[in-house]
Amino acid sequence: MLDRYSKQRIFLGRAADEALRSKRVAVLGLGALGSVIAPWLARAGVGHLTLIDRDLVEASNLQRQLLYDESDLGGAKAEVAAKRLAEANSSIQLNAVVADLTSGNARELLADFDLICDGTDNFEARFLINDVAILTGTPWIYAGAIGGEGVVWPLNPPRTPCLRCLLEEPPAGGDVDTCDSAGVLGPAVGAIGSWAALEALKVLTGKQPHTDLVRFDFWNDERQFLNPPRTRCRFCTERITEFLDARWSLRASALCGLEGVQIRVNPPGRLDLAALKDRLETRTRSPWRQAGMMLKGREGADEITLFADGRALIHGPMTPERARGWYTEVVGC
Ligand SMILES: [Zn+2]
Repeated sequence: MLDRYSKQRIFLGRAADEALRSKRVAVLGLGALGSVIAPWLARAGVGHLTLIDRDLVEASNLQRQLLYDESDLGGAKAEVAAKRLAEANSSIQLNAVVADLTSGNARELLADFDLICDGTDNFEARFLINDVAILTGTPWIYAGAIGGEGVVWPLNPPRTPCLRCLLEEPPAGGDVDTCDSAGVLGPAVGAIGSWAALEALKVLTGKQPHTDLVRFDFWNDERQFLNPPRTRCRFCTERITEFLDARWSLRASALCGLEGVQIRVNPPGRLDLAALKDRLETRTRSPWRQAGMMLKGREGADEITLFADGRALIHGPMTPERARGWYTEVVGC
């Protein structure tokens, strides 16, 4: 009989195909990578997908983030993604989570999955996923793309090395979380996302995923195969989870390549945007606009966006130090 999974079942075999129906996968980050990883898994019939992303769809996303169209601008990526995927496969469970992953919520958000797929573009999130993997034994797939190249690396410590066996600390040199100055080509990140989804299907059906660190530079026709680290770090061997254990309540960092500051809180909270709107309009004597989960307005030369989870983006001359003071004064922390 030709049902929706018939072609896949011919290749995988009945048992492996049916196993997918009972699997639970978290896709963290629904940008360009997640836009490819999540649809492949939904269409393959992975029984439960939790889609986690903190961001809203912006015009600059449309060049490469295939899940979104112009009509989605301003919508929460996790929610738009869940809606699209439900249209593609109504027989699976989809759970949209609009949240910023921090040490204060990572354990809870990433609990009880058969696999975690990294669709993020930042090392802070990857080191948090790695800590959760060390703590819970959950396999995860590291994926990253930049320019015309990318890397996919399936990890499952302690059976395999962990991210910190290769890279003890997140790379220095600027806040990687707010930095995307190198640019990226849509088809390159799409190829990397498809490859990550393929490795995900291996993990979920019990086939060994690749273990080498493979880097493909599609633009320059280069391939590099690196053996994984031979020695294990103390973090995965002794189950030390420094990133999950980090305690911080507010971070203000300069936006890379743009004049401005991003503020994040830990654990992410729940702001009363309606009450803040009143307070800010009185304070700035100018109108503020609330749309769904965000509140936008100006104070002096700064254009400010507050998100319901406590994050803030400030575009303008404000420095991180002043932004921290402004936020504490206006929002409290
Ligand atoms: Zn390790």
